[in-house]
Amino acid sequence: MIHTLDLGFIGIPGSVAAFLVELPDGQLALVETGPHSTFERLNTAVAATGHALTDIQHVLITHIHLDHAGAAWALAQHGAKIYVHPAGLKHLTSPERLMASAQRIYGNDMDRLWGQMHPIAEGQLVPALHEQIFRIGGRAFAAFHTPGHASHHVAWMLGEDALFTGDVAGVRIGSGPVQPPCPPPDIDLREWRRSIKLLRKLPAERLFLTHFGEVADKGKHLDELAAMLIDWSEWVALEMRDGQIIEDMVIGFQRYVEAQLRAAGAGTALLAQYDAANPAYMNVTGLVRYWNKEQERQMPGHSDV
Ligand SMILES: [Zn+2]
Repeated sequence: MIHTLDLGFIGIPGSVAAFLVELPDGQLALVETGPHSTFERLNTAVAATGHALTDIQHVLITHIHLDHAGAAWALAQHGAKIYVHPAGLKHLTSPERLMASAQRIYGNDMDRLWGQMHPIAEGQLVPALHEQIFRIGGRAFAAFHTPGHASHHVAWMLGEDALFTGDVAGVRIGSGPVQPPCPPPDIDLREWRRSIKLLRKLPAERLFLTHFGEVADKGKHLDELAAMLIDWSEWVALEMRDGQIIEDMVIGFQRYVEAQLRAAGAGTALLAQYDAANPAYMNVTGLVRYWNKEQERQMPGHSDV
């Protein structure tokens, strides 16, 4: 049994989720934690399912962005093990760098958006290798490394039924369209396309998106995601070729995305949900960074080795 928990991020419902999985032997697993700013809300949402947050012993996270893993340390304080991509591990044992880079972006809005992050003892962290299977409470959770949105991204497959896709299968809220969240620093379009291919091949058909909830039609959803990834990245590439400065691109992109959402029938409430889950300006800085890296990579004399 999978419960989708609405964390009511910055007071907006249906923007950030965590998933509580009831296991056959009575144990509980949590996929994603939300940021620490919504920890009280997580506590209430778990209680509403008839369970206690303190009984959660296994926490699987898709990647260490703050809206996905920001409260992992607080669950670790209750004794939970935290399963994470090996490259994400160091950010959980020493979150200072992660918090400092968030601070540079969000300034004095940190507490409202994200709350705090404290170190997790290494002994409580479980590195999840690609295709590694963890038997937890009578079910199998398989880790799939799925870079593109973040280099340290894991999609978690429960049995052969459900896939918790974090951000690699995009954002889709209510009746709205699919968006590829493209924040800095490590968007990689080629890796992302490869990851989408991998998701297609996996037997699980039900996707659980952190932003937000279950999607039944996997093939159609991933087609739309792949198309939108091209659409957004081309939009940014064209603006860059025109010599646009980033501030103007941000304004233009916000208008472009709003028009896309409205064309798909979104009203004010849905626009706010999308903006909470995937702020438009983030995608501009993330994609500009990607294209600049690409250009450097193609310079003569450059070598990846
Ligand atoms: Zn993310």
